[in-house]
Amino acid sequence: MKKRIGIIGGGAAGLFAACQLKRLKGDADVEVTLIEKNSIPGKKLILTGHGRCNITNRKEISRLKEGYHSADKFLYPALKEFGPEDTVSFFENGIGLKVKEEDNNRIFPVCDSAVTVRDRLVSYISDSTEIVCDAGVKGIRTMSGFEVDTSKGTFTFDQLILSCGGMSFPKTGSAGDSYRFARELGHTVIPVRGALAPLKAEDKDRTFCRALSGVSVNAGVSLFCEGRKTASTEGGVLFAEFGLTGPAVMEISREVPQDIKGKDVFIELDLVPEMNDDEFEKELLDLIGKRADTKIATLLSGFVPQSAASEITARAGAEGLYAQGFTKENRKNVCREMKHLKICLEEAPDINTAYVTRGGVPLNEVDRKTMESKIVPGLYIIGEALDIDGISGGYNLQACMSEAYLASKSILNSD
Ligand SMILES: Cc1cc2nc3c(=O)[nH]c(=O)nc-3n(C[C@H](O)[C@H](O)[C@H](O)COP(=O)(O)OP(=O)(O)OC[C@H]3O[C@@H](n4cnc5c(N)ncnc54)[C@H](O)[C@@H]3O)c2cc1C
Repeated sequence: MKKRIGIIGGGAAGLFAACQLKRLKGDADVEVTLIEKNSIPGKKLILTGHGRCNITNRKEISRLKEGYHSADKFLYPALKEFGPEDTVSFFENGIGLKVKEEDNNRIFPVCDSAVTVRDRLVSYISDSTEIVCDAGVKGIRTMSGFEVDTSKGTFTFDQLILSCGGMSFPKTGSAGDSYRFARELGHTVIPVRGALAPLKAEDKDRTFCRALSGVSVNAGVSLFCEGRKTASTEGGVLFAEFGLTGPAVMEISREVPQDIKGKDVFIELDLVPEMNDDEFEKELLDLIGKRADTKIATLLSGFVPQSAASEITARAGAEGLYAQGFTKENRKNVCREMKHLKICLEEAPDINTAYVTRGGVPLNEVDRKTMESKIVPGLYIIGEALDIDGISGGYNLQACMSEAYLASKSILNSD
């Protein structure tokens, strides 16, 4: 008998699932329908990688899984069965898009076009999948199978893939419906918050960040909450009009508490992460001794961009000072600003500008070998609807790919 498979949500995970169902189905008698509320699938996908789509990351699986925080164990079987090499192979041989590797093992299509990625995925499934757009799903009922109510009528399916996304960048369509459907079907949902998000600085520090808007540095980045260091990393930091962004800041944003108002929560930047405090102070002292007639800001520009050096010097109260006559107190202040630059945060990461969602359907309610719900047989949950948020660098699309593969394989193998 023909198996009717529904996919709710035509984002990255839903499109990948439709591709895998086509690829794996052989001569199985299946009918696949993808239901999307927007007028075209993949609205978020076309924004990925600044419009270039960082499709995966070519790290060894043992290292790759570390990028998924506490979801590493859950995702391991999926990544092992369908890892970055499989993604590359599918892109090159399945949808005909050659790929290239950039820094930090990030993989992009050679065409540098996320729109082309979306279009090729849609075109690949066009002969195997009925794509129903402009059809927002309103509710899902379990009968002997699933009844899905949409703005274009009711559809019935034997098995269902729930891939409506998380809540980040809701203007792309992922406005949290996954959670409502999951709850109505008996799942619990871990409260969601933004991850991989830029961070807004408090007024006084925002002025400093604004003065450096567009300047990027490599820095140690630590998060402090009420006097305690709660997370740290190292990498690219970009100063912006509103505060801080860049890969390292976005990575740490998932740890910023939600209830930040009235609390002492700040990011501490170490602008010279290759040296410890003593080594840096010694180096500075050495330079001061050798270049007495040089401005301090000029000396600091050996460590950070010139504009940052000037702002840091001003912040340390040493604006216009020369090495000659630089006091011990001046030196301590400059060292503090270079090694422990404090940027107080005004608010928790904004879900509207976060790249991914932390929280969602708990992983212990889903079978990690099949992506099938442990609560509703025949329901498969993939993508950002799950409580998985990867770091930046192609991790999140790879997770969608791997999960879509497991779900599709399991559906096709089931009775
Ligand atoms: C700006 C930006 C850049 C990013 N860049 C990268 C990158 O380069 N590499 C990377 O790995 N990750 C990147 N990500 C993260 C990645 O895009 C997401 O993790 C991924 O798209 C999640 O896929 P998804 O299918 O679960 O959700 P989504 O892509 O959000 O798709 C969900 C779909 O479901 C539809 N939908 C929602 N509710 C309903 C409903 N009721 N009825 C019908 N349809 C519904 C939505 O319209 C949407 O099309 C980026 C994210 C953003 C915001």
